[in-house]
Amino acid sequence: MAVTTTNILEERATSISSKQRKGISCEKESVSGAVSQRACVYCGARVVLNPITDAYHIVHGPIGCASYTWDIRGSLSSGSELYRNSYSTDLRETDIVFGGAVKLTAAIDELMEKANPAPKLIFIYATCIVGVIGDDVDAVCRAAEAKYGIRVIPVKAPGFSGTKSLGYQMACNAILEVMRPHREQKKRFGINILGDYNLAGEMWIIKRYFEDLGIPVISTITGDASYESLTQAPSATLNIVQCAGSSAYLAECMDEELGIPYVKVSFFGVEDTSASIIRVADALYAAGACDDGIPARAREFAAAQTAKVMPVIEKYKPRLAGKKAAIFVGGGFKAISLIRQFNELGIKTVVVGTQTGKKDEYAVIESLVDGDTIVLDDANPAELEQFMLEKGADILVGGVKERPLAYKLGVAFCDHNHERRHPLAGFAGIENFIKEINMSINSPVWQYLGKEAAV
Ligand code: SF4
Repeated sequence: MAVTTTNILEERATSISSKQRKGISCEKESVSGAVSQRACVYCGARVVLNPITDAYHIVHGPIGCASYTWDIRGSLSSGSELYRNSYSTDLRETDIVFGGAVKLTAAIDELMEKANPAPKLIFIYATCIVGVIGDDVDAVCRAAEAKYGIRVIPVKAPGFSGTKSLGYQMACNAILEVMRPHREQKKRFGINILGDYNLAGEMWIIKRYFEDLGIPVISTITGDASYESLTQAPSATLNIVQCAGSSAYLAECMDEELGIPYVKVSFFGVEDTSASIIRVADALYAAGACDDGIPARAREFAAAQTAKVMPVIEKYKPRLAGKKAAIFVGGGFKAISLIRQFNELGIKTVVVGTQTGKKDEYAVIESLVDGDTIVLDDANPAELEQFMLEKGADILVGGVKERPLAYKLGVAFCDHNHERRHPLAGFAGIENFIKEINMSINSPVWQYLGKEAAV
């Protein structure tokens, strides 16, 4: 049954569910006026491509688009730091009247002349106004590729052309463009990790697990990726997909075009991390890519790591049991892992929402939570506020946009998004997560709530 209250826009009612669930309305454009927390199409594309460490990113549009997505992730690099820069054609009124293609060509020429090291890969993002005035961005990119012998890839992503999910898809298409000339490679034993952005070095933690098990990681897409490593991705035996929301489409295309099958994984929480490591080993064995030693080692490794982390869980559980959590994250897969992780700690999830969750992910979410838990797609701050107060949430897990909301409501907060500086993935991340949840929920600051009114 859909939830309807006086504070919810009528058009939003089917995107919120509770009690006798009949599924949730999702994977659609945001309701106008609902103050969606999603970013635009261009932003979706940029967040996926930005962590490619040695790529140059030119934003063809007004300067504001470039500033909006400049250095937005805590994604780390083991090599080049070029991706930390942002370039813009800074379109002004005269460019809008007479066209911006000449300025774009000049921007590429200037980069080729001055940039050090010389670019091997440039992404050109065409933003809203370029979609309106119709600059031939494809032609400019083709001409630049011919002139300089490097890859110049257009990402035509006007904000009005769809949702953030479309931006993810455009980024995946751009990555495929990088790989296509290298598709005819001999296959070798190893995996690509898709949809991990190396926030606070999480990719390195996961990569080490697989390398310790004897499974080489060929390419990471796109956390700590480089042009060179992306060109090697077509040689992998298997793709593993961490953030399905941004990268399942790429995995499907790579399966179809390059013959690389994929499995979905999640490295958040004991249950999902252990299951994912075993799933990858089993998939390699089932594909005939390795002997049964790797699946056996994966099971031993997962069991040993679980045994190490369990005392930490047991230590903090009594301090957290009975608390209530609200979750609002980007994709459905992360929300599923977080619900399981809270279950491991004895914390009930009372509100759970995502920006771009899919139907099948919401079905899993609804199967994991109690009937009275509120499930929301593409929520706005007013809805989150209402349901967190109604359900008595003790902590909100979200991104930077949700932090002030939680603090204003006097609710604890855990940042599980781009900007954080400490890893929450893998077994090391489980420990960090529990400690952060404990510190935030049990902070002495909450005892002063409301006291100022009495002073
Ligand atoms: S102008 Fe368009 S592309 Fe640029 S940030 Fe705004 S919505 Fe996104």
